[in-house]
Amino acid sequence: MTGNKIEIPKWVWDFHGHTCPFMPIGYRMGVLAMKELSIDRVKDHGAFAFSEMGVGHPQTCMMDGTMAATGCTYGKLMMERLDYGKVATILYAPGKGAVRIYLRSEFQDELGKFEFFAYRKKGIEPSDIPEDVTEKVVAKVMEASDEELFKVEKLPDFTFSRPKGSFAKVKCSNCGEYVFERYVRMKDGQPMCIPCSGYDQTWVNVLKGVQ
Ligand SMILES: [Zn+2]
Ligand SMILES: [Zn+2]
Repeated sequence: MTGNKIEIPKWVWDFHGHTCPFMPIGYRMGVLAMKELSIDRVKDHGAFAFSEMGVGHPQTCMMDGTMAATGCTYGKLMMERLDYGKVATILYAPGKGAVRIYLRSEFQDELGKFEFFAYRKKGIEPSDIPEDVTEKVVAKVMEASDEELFKVEKLPDFTFSRPKGSFAKVKCSNCGEYVFERYVRMKDGQPMCIPCSGYDQTWVNVLKGVQ
């Protein structure tokens, strides 16, 4: 087994909040994706990460690792979820291409045998799991080679662009709060925010996992 030189900075563990195997998997996924695209951690908006994770499965810690490694943060709208329910991420850097990284099924099977997941299946939170149990599964992730961990595919036809940013905003005629123009809805000839307009809040259902 070939080792690797990746070290996860302390701030990333602090940011994530607990010690677990999927945050480091996401971190390594991000590092490998950047290497594949020959890019560094992004400062502004030079790349986008699309996680194939969904909701209602416990591997989503991965996304915090990928955000930390790549700089593709949720708040800068550089991280989106595709809701496929798969342990994979696409990293896209305009002008550099796109790469998809999948956590190999064989590795997922191996990982599932660790005692850590027996605790998780009983509903025990990672920070309540004995440290030595957690250390073993994290070591498994950190000591595996990229080849053992990941399937890598280049996606030559992948494209993505965001709507152009605008600072234009309007006051909702009902609640008086500002709404960015794109989200204004007209009701009885009056501009309203989405909640006041009674507009179908599909995305709220998405966030609840009702899709
Ligand atoms: Zn976690
Ligand atoms: Zn309103």
